[in-house]
Amino acid sequence: MMKPIEYVDVVVLGSGPAGLAAAFASAKQGANTVVLERQERPGGILKQCIHDGFGNLRYNETLTGPEYAYREIQQVIAALVPIRTNCFVASVEHGEHHFLLNCISPSGIERISARALVLATGCRERTDRQVFIHGDRPAGIFTAGLAQRLINIDGLIPGNRAVILGSGDIGLIMARRLSIEGVQVEGVHEIRHESSGLKRNIQQCLEDFDIPLYVQSTVTSVVGSQRVKAVHVAAVDVKNMPIMSTEQYIPCDTLILSVGLIPENELAHSLDVPIDPVTKGPVVDHVMHTMVDGVFACGNCVHVSDLVDYVSESGSIAGKHAAAWALDGCADRTLVPVSRAGNLAYVVPQMIDTSSPQRSASCYFRVRHTIERTTQLRINSEGQQLDCLTFDELYPPQMERFAINETIFSSIKQPSADISIELVLVEASHD
Ligand SMILES: Cc1cc2nc3c(=O)[nH]c(=O)nc-3n(C[C@H](O)[C@H](O)[C@H](O)COP(=O)(O)OP(=O)(O)OC[C@H]3O[C@@H](n4cnc5c(N)ncnc54)[C@H](O)[C@@H]3O)c2cc1C
Repeated sequence: MMKPIEYVDVVVLGSGPAGLAAAFASAKQGANTVVLERQERPGGILKQCIHDGFGNLRYNETLTGPEYAYREIQQVIAALVPIRTNCFVASVEHGEHHFLLNCISPSGIERISARALVLATGCRERTDRQVFIHGDRPAGIFTAGLAQRLINIDGLIPGNRAVILGSGDIGLIMARRLSIEGVQVEGVHEIRHESSGLKRNIQQCLEDFDIPLYVQSTVTSVVGSQRVKAVHVAAVDVKNMPIMSTEQYIPCDTLILSVGLIPENELAHSLDVPIDPVTKGPVVDHVMHTMVDGVFACGNCVHVSDLVDYVSESGSIAGKHAAAWALDGCADRTLVPVSRAGNLAYVVPQMIDTSSPQRSASCYFRVRHTIERTTQLRINSEGQQLDCLTFDELYPPQMERFAINETIFSSIKQPSADISIELVLVEASHD
């Protein structure tokens, strides 16, 4: 027999730090809120990140991932929000002023109707198929996140001698983790001319452990039938094509891939939520409302963040406004696109809702190329500069944050006035 539909105000999809912050903020507004999580335990990716470096901004402390998750989970439990684990949201149907979720749980198919949704589904790792590595598919090829889970949660060592492809933060952290566990890490190979990881991770995870980083280098093929026996690596040219004359054979039994993260947005796609082609996450306004009424999004499913504190911040904003949307009814929005100029890869939010009662915004951006000179970020509207911030150095792996405060918000003269963010290099003084 089909179970009756359960009715709530707000459903939060995912119990990582974004979803937990959203759930707490939603409950604080008085909304009947539920969190749905496909895994056995809440906490998202933090459960397997046992290194420290979490919570410097939110808690003014340096916590490990599980410690940070524990605090967030306790907050949600204290707010009496149910966190339903082992509950996979398979599909969402969009009705008039509500959403119907079809969830697979140990007790069968559950159907939940909500007035507002918060997508907090995180991101997924790119695989070897997506980076075109040729050769066989023997055992011993792992994404960095899977290797991290095997070691930190399941207590299993993936191999004895490893090569790491990709120098994103997870790859760097795994190079150190494998080394600590006695695995011989032959090196980290990065196709770009610089690492895509944070500087502090290059120092703490590679240099401190004498693990070499080879830039403009890639894995060209995997050797082995049952188990990885070796990989071929080669330098690449300016078009990232391998220079075959430089190819080298490196014996190893493990290849770890850290070749990028992609926001997880299958459910967003099914709801026709517009996606930003650069971030690969939903286009959102400054209260994390997507372009589909009643659907909010936060955390890594919007754009991949380097700091959990920013993920939690976006969750709190999304949860608060999802609750307001569900409880107070649907107000019309006046959405103004945020245009960007200069070396900006992207800016989130991509829209400002000038009719919103929320008269401030937290904005995040990344640059396309490293800038080692003083740069100004200017916020303009209708040809007028509203604010200007100075940065000494900007580089692509690091996400930067700036705030549009209430005063700047009020300077946007008309509801539909344009808003543009530009990066301008400051000329060196000749004194
Ligand atoms: C290896 C690694 C190291 C990091 N190191 C640091 C660090 O040192 N300091 C720092 O500040 N930050 C660090 N970060 C970044 C930070 O941890 C992440 O950005 C943050 O945890 C992402 O949170 P999230 O809630 O958006 O996603 P996640 O934590 O990924 O949570 C998403 C949740 O959604 C669930 N879900 C997805 N789809 C469904 C569905 N259909 N139904 C039900 N549930 C679903 C998933 O199971 C998951 O639990 C690191 C990240 C990684 C991966």
